[in-house]
Amino acid sequence: MVKVRFAPSPTGNLHIGSVRTALFNYLFARHHGGKFVLRIEDTDLERSRQEYTDDILSGLEWLSLSSAEPPVYQNSRRELHLEYVDKLLQEGRAYPDPEGSPAVFFRVPADGETVIHDLVKGDIVFQNKDFKDQVIRKSDGSATYNFAVVLDDALMGITHIIRGEDHISNTPKQIFLYNALGFALPQFAHIPMILGTDRSKLSKRHGATSINEYKKSGFLPEAIVNYLALLGWTPADGAELMSLAELCQKFDLDRVSKSNSIFDLEKLRWLNAQKLKNLSLETLQKAYPELDIEILKIIKDDLVLLTDVPEKAKVFTLPKIEYTDEQKTELKTDSAHQVFRELQEKIDIIYSGAIEEQYGKAQALIDDIVKNTGLKKGQVFHPLRVALTAQKSGPGLKFLLVLLGREKVKERIQNALG
Ligand code: GLU
Repeated sequence: MVKVRFAPSPTGNLHIGSVRTALFNYLFARHHGGKFVLRIEDTDLERSRQEYTDDILSGLEWLSLSSAEPPVYQNSRRELHLEYVDKLLQEGRAYPDPEGSPAVFFRVPADGETVIHDLVKGDIVFQNKDFKDQVIRKSDGSATYNFAVVLDDALMGITHIIRGEDHISNTPKQIFLYNALGFALPQFAHIPMILGTDRSKLSKRHGATSINEYKKSGFLPEAIVNYLALLGWTPADGAELMSLAELCQKFDLDRVSKSNSIFDLEKLRWLNAQKLKNLSLETLQKAYPELDIEILKIIKDDLVLLTDVPEKAKVFTLPKIEYTDEQKTELKTDSAHQVFRELQEKIDIIYSGAIEEQYGKAQALIDDIVKNTGLKKGQVFHPLRVALTAQKSGPGLKFLLVLLGREKVKERIQNALG
């Protein structure tokens, strides 16, 4: 059975690039009916912090990339790692530091070649003579990254190692250790890097990198997952908008790109807007319980970020609106005044019955004003919109009339009449 792992070091907040690695592992496991597990590589005691572990755990949970087993903490396996160092020492495959420190060196094969049969990159060949003997126990007495990772992957039964291609140089060193320890080799897949628009490795300079920052700015987990899946992978059918379940069904390593991908914030924003359109009103209401659900319904299709809600709802919620000088001039024309008076006269007919019925009556009233005044549609719609919102565009007039409510409409029209 396929078993993969995501193995972040808790030395920083959950990075968007690491999430892409976690996601590819997760999708691969789910596609093959396998398991995705989490291993927190907290052996660097100086740089590892509990708050970073918490950030990684909560970030993955928010994205629904949950581990099939409780997370493994690498540091809790220190003794186990060291037992295997002793084993290699006893077998003469490793030797202690001649200077007398606790460091231990592993004897790398002197000749021959080592090949990674990479599922994304194809075969990558290394000459063994290019490698020096490898430290497996550091002078502080703890196992090195390459040693700990091989042991944990082998003992946890990891079948496929999917990670960033920045780890390619570690892989031959790890293959030596698998062979020396008598473990079966897993399959390797090194995935391309994510670059900023200037083609350098994605970093803080390019904007937000921590998942929590994206969450705070109003991105939905569905959008992030969908976007990151497309960063270095395309489905055979060319689909762009996919749920996590669809991604699991379609994802495989054979369509992962060999070349690096560029992080495109605009595309992420576009996907976010699409996911917001599909978001249930109940979920939106949970995020903004103070807002009328009918208002949320009207502005939902117009959101790019979840955090756009208060701004978009402003036309409905502001106690008073201010017109610019230019708008004041627009509101003063004879035709605008004619429209406002018509509206004042008949406004009361709107506000009874179910909400859909009110929308219908509001629309009929607007049509009526066009007919009665003999004005062009734009000459009716534009001044009404400006009077009610002080904006050029926004929700449909019938929605404005109904959701603002009788008092606010009257007040704003009165205000517009000056
Ligand atoms: N802890 C390593 C990292 O964060 C894991 C690398 C691996 O996947 O082997 O880069």
